[in-house]
Amino acid sequence: MEILQIKRLVQKQGRVTIPKEICEKMGIKSDIALVFTMLDDKIIVTKEKESCVFCNDTENLRKYKEILICPTCINNIKNDI
Ligand SMILES: [Zn+2]
Repeated sequence: MEILQIKRLVQKQGRVTIPKEICEKMGIKSDIALVFTMLDDKIIVTKEKESCVFCNDTENLRKYKEILICPTCINNIKNDI
């Protein structure tokens, strides 16, 4: 799992610019829809396609409280708790 953290200030009307590095790595271009998911105290931003919120896998997804999670991440979470 690759982790990249970049700090950005929230501007007027709640606007946040997605860092260029993240746009390039994630293939985010203008006019694509992003989905904002609140998970406890975290905000997860994903591209609109249905995929696991943690690893972007698209196979055998299960939905938990409007969040899609793959079987591998479900097992990882179970083992971490
Ligand atoms: Zn996953």
